[in-house]
Amino acid sequence: MLTKTKIYLSSPHMGGSEQKFVNQAFDTNWIAPLGPNVDGFENDLKQYLGGNDEVAVLSSGTAAIHLALQLIGVSKGDEVLCQSFTFSASANPIIYQGATPVFIDSEPETWNMSPELLEIAIKDRIEKYKKPKAIIAVHLYGMPYKAKEINAIAKNYGIPVLEDSAEALGSTYFNQACGTLSDMGVLSFNGNKIITTSGGGALITKKLELKNKAIFLSTQARDNAPHYEHSSIGYNYRMSNVLAGIGRGQMEVIDERVEARRSNYNFYKTNLSQFGAIEFLEEPFGFFSNRWITCIKTNSYKLRESLRLDLQNEDIESRTLWKPMHLQPVFKDCLSFTNGISENLFNNGLCLPSGSNLTEDDLSRVIEIIRKNPNL
Ligand SMILES: *Cc1c(COP(=O)(O)O)cnc(C)c1O
Repeated sequence: MLTKTKIYLSSPHMGGSEQKFVNQAFDTNWIAPLGPNVDGFENDLKQYLGGNDEVAVLSSGTAAIHLALQLIGVSKGDEVLCQSFTFSASANPIIYQGATPVFIDSEPETWNMSPELLEIAIKDRIEKYKKPKAIIAVHLYGMPYKAKEINAIAKNYGIPVLEDSAEALGSTYFNQACGTLSDMGVLSFNGNKIITTSGGGALITKKLELKNKAIFLSTQARDNAPHYEHSSIGYNYRMSNVLAGIGRGQMEVIDERVEARRSNYNFYKTNLSQFGAIEFLEEPFGFFSNRWITCIKTNSYKLRESLRLDLQNEDIESRTLWKPMHLQPVFKDCLSFTNGISENLFNNGLCLPSGSNLTEDDLSRVIEIIRKNPNL
């Protein structure tokens, strides 16, 4: 009997050179935290992002968000405005800092933070003597958010923007790399992201001074002294030289990875757009998405669920879109500014298999199953 292999949503895809860099780390015994791969990976990222921003590689994207909030000065009792339609890791570090998240719903064109609701929220909080300390906006699924509008509002009220670009390495906004569009940006190299170091992340900043401060905090905040001297609380958040070696190998193939993910999107769209019940997320003019995950929006919960279960029965992994943070039990007491858009996406949307290592046969299998659905 012919058994079909499982198709994953987004699995790691090595390029070939990763092992060379990891071996170099072994050969030179640069196993211990820092070393040439860390510098090399940071430099590769810096060049890829356009050469004007500083990059510090860290143990995870979550760690990068946490350090960024620390560097912005978010502390106990502060409020931070955060996109509701996202993965929980965007919001959790707000709680680590003893601050309170306030969630902002999405707009329909990019599914990301609504500039209108952002401004309404800022005005409301200022009126109540709770001026927000920071804004966390997210390029979800690789689609850039409306950076011009959001940055203008943020600037007008003097609130820094932290750009969660964990899903958007390779995306650009009017030719500028996502991650470099605001005060500080964050990347993730978790196993399911467009490139991976098995686990890792990065903080992007315009200022060398902030990069150095991030490195200081991420390596236990040791003051300059012959003994261990500490005048601030540190973290163990730096990326290791071994994992940075994987990152260097992955950077050699990043362009191919973006191309492959975009080509997945085009394949799905070409083969499914005749069905009126399925909608795709289009790129507005000037927006370039890495298409990390191809998402569809169906016209009913019933259709979405039947597609998801049909695929599951064929050993194909798909997933609902992110459940908005304002609907998560853990954040139920938090204030939110909503318009129903992210809730609707959660109820009716589906993430399709999107790995850069999917074959045309894999993609055809997915299409065939979707096309057979009687609810379409
Ligand atoms: C993956 C992800 C993170 C967290 O990154 P990790 O490296 O897994 O800690 C943060 N925000 C978003 C939107 C993500 O998708």
